[in-house]
Amino acid sequence: MKFGTKVIHAGIHPDPQTGAVMTPIYQTSTYAQEAPGKHKGYEYARTQNPTRSVLEANLAALENGTHGICFSSGLAAMDAVMRLLNPGDEIIASNDLYGGSYRQITKVHERYGIKGHFVDMTDPANVQKSLNENTKIVWIETPTNPMLSIVDIQAVCALVKGSGALVCVDNTFASPYLQTPLDLGADLVLHSATKYLGGHSDVVMGAVVVKDEKLAESIYFLQNAVGAVPGPQDCFLVLRGIKTLHLRVQRACENAAKIAAFLLGHPKVGKVYWPGFENHPNHAIAKSQMRGFGAMVSFDLANDSLEEANRILSSTHLFTLAESLGGVESLIGHPASMTHASIPKSERLKVGLTDSLIRLSVGVEDVDDLLADLQKAI
Ligand SMILES: *Cc1c(COP(=O)(O)O)cnc(C)c1O
Repeated sequence: MKFGTKVIHAGIHPDPQTGAVMTPIYQTSTYAQEAPGKHKGYEYARTQNPTRSVLEANLAALENGTHGICFSSGLAAMDAVMRLLNPGDEIIASNDLYGGSYRQITKVHERYGIKGHFVDMTDPANVQKSLNENTKIVWIETPTNPMLSIVDIQAVCALVKGSGALVCVDNTFASPYLQTPLDLGADLVLHSATKYLGGHSDVVMGAVVVKDEKLAESIYFLQNAVGAVPGPQDCFLVLRGIKTLHLRVQRACENAAKIAAFLLGHPKVGKVYWPGFENHPNHAIAKSQMRGFGAMVSFDLANDSLEEANRILSSTHLFTLAESLGGVESLIGHPASMTHASIPKSERLKVGLTDSLIRLSVGVEDVDDLLADLQKAI
């Protein structure tokens, strides 16, 4: 099955009871048993829920994995992956990481004896430098947030292979429409389904996808034992969102390309970050490992004025000033004070995250209206 068919059909069948074409929302906490222990595969809804199972099967197919495991948020999904580690274990992560992921590693897991290394993964040699016998996870985020650098997934996986460490790729920014890390050698894929998968800014959810039975068992165990599961209504919403994933991301990418070109030509704009530019330092890798360049664009101002950035952030009408990304509507955000406020300024500046940096999540509106909105605000 090709991608555009998978989003609509993979793992999804009419309800065997009623023929309902859309997956029903099984809003139940428990299931009747015929005799003690004799049941239809469903005992208690933290452990199994039919709406969730359909979504999990669909996600596994989209990422070319064997198992999808859903959580109540992207960070809950990350927490499950991190709980594979024991005290003394180490994780190597991108230094340009989603703020909440950085906070979870440094403020939660480091308290339990796990050591985090944050390196510039655009040069895989930096991963090699921190890799040792205690490394259990290498955590890649690509494209990175908000600088939109690209990490060569295949190169990092090749380097880590044989070391005993697992490679997990946070595929939130690309979505499986643009990038399937398991095909490039990764062991786990993580999603904040809140973003492109859900696609309508109406649900918070996370997911892990793997291609190995034993690893799947470990994550299912944590899903049940720790219990951060999504509700069936949320699973329904994400299933519904996924049906148009390919159409939404395709249009959003086309819009983003035009907006990136517009920003590049604007005299008030400083740097524009978008991996589709031929002179983007990681353009060649983006081209080889992604099927499009994504719909996130970041830029800063030529004079790096925070006041000027604040004025722009409050002046757009179609771009809503809000955290998050990946919905049908365009959003504008200020990483230094919003998504990345939990990262110290000295760390932020190391990756080029200046005070005037503005991040756009380009939606699927008519691009002419989006361009006019930005033109007026800037
Ligand atoms: C939003 C996001 C997360 C966290 O997901 P939640 O659903 O908000 O918990 C993790 N990684 C990336 C790249 C994100 O954008």
